[in-house]
Amino acid sequence: MFKLRSQLDAIVGESLLSHIMRTAKENYLKPDHMAQLAGARIGGIVPFLFDRNMAQALPDLLGVSLDEIERKMYLPVYEARRPAAAAKIPSAPFPFGTGELKLQAEKEVNNFYGTEINRDHLHLARRRFAPDALSIGGYHRPEWDVGFIFSNHETGELLHSKCRFCEKKFGWRTRGLTECFCKYDLRDHKAKPIPSELLELSAFLHDLINPCPLRQEQARSRLPSSLQAVGVSTLVDLMITVGRLAVGYYPGANDICRGLPVDREIKLMFLGFTYLPEWPASVVPAVESALWNSLNGRMEEHVSFSRIFSVVDRASLPETRGILTQVALSVWSDKGLSRVPS
Ligand SMILES: [Zn+2]
Repeated sequence: MFKLRSQLDAIVGESLLSHIMRTAKENYLKPDHMAQLAGARIGGIVPFLFDRNMAQALPDLLGVSLDEIERKMYLPVYEARRPAAAAKIPSAPFPFGTGELKLQAEKEVNNFYGTEINRDHLHLARRRFAPDALSIGGYHRPEWDVGFIFSNHETGELLHSKCRFCEKKFGWRTRGLTECFCKYDLRDHKAKPIPSELLELSAFLHDLINPCPLRQEQARSRLPSSLQAVGVSTLVDLMITVGRLAVGYYPGANDICRGLPVDREIKLMFLGFTYLPEWPASVVPAVESALWNSLNGRMEEHVSFSRIFSVVDRASLPETRGILTQVALSVWSDKGLSRVPS
């Protein structure tokens, strides 16, 4: 086994890839060379997060126990609920959403420091960063890998996703964690404060994925009882879906989030977040409006409408499904349709 000249202790609160990157730099190696030393042929260091077999060589290389490394990996909890399991999910009573339902049920779910997160909520292709946090400690925080996390809450700043100087997005091939390919020092970026509108959502999301169960419990205790047991990824999907419905229902909604310097999905999640305290009654007018629009041939709302059924089923919310079904049936009968089209 190849022995590195120097090994570094992991920093508390540092991600696994961050530890690999810092060790590479300390040994004058590129991250890809580190990956090769650990037995990877292609693909850089990101696959080490997901593949237990690949990680076997990391303890010797980094000087850390396999247990410690696995604790920081995003290992699949279950790869896919195969059609047999998916079939157990009751199908929608309407010709909407059943295809999507199957798709959702087959998603990979991964362990993120004790919390189950959908694989497609873990964004590793680009490496996001917070300049002030990097100035305090030049390492990557794992929560920056979670797509719906948009801030570094402790320093009160938004995450950046590209270099201010060369405008490029970067991943895990730069030399070190505090500089871009173009050598621009990421700590020199001007930190963007979290807008006051988003502070509550920011804290809520960070608490939901906090490794400390108490913090998670506190965040969940603020939800209405029917939503308290819903998994974090499904809750995020629910907020985004409701946000999408709300934009269709209430055109002013677009104005509310227009000035917010975050991605559209985050804006939709912010809108959906405002619907949670009064759930499920809060969502009825938006659903009603979306259904009317879908029957009048406005496809965008049609898609949102089907999606809310599939997300509600994924979240196991029978009460909400019952209410949505009632809304749909009453719109249908107002429209003069004697039966649900099939
Ligand atoms: Zn750059």
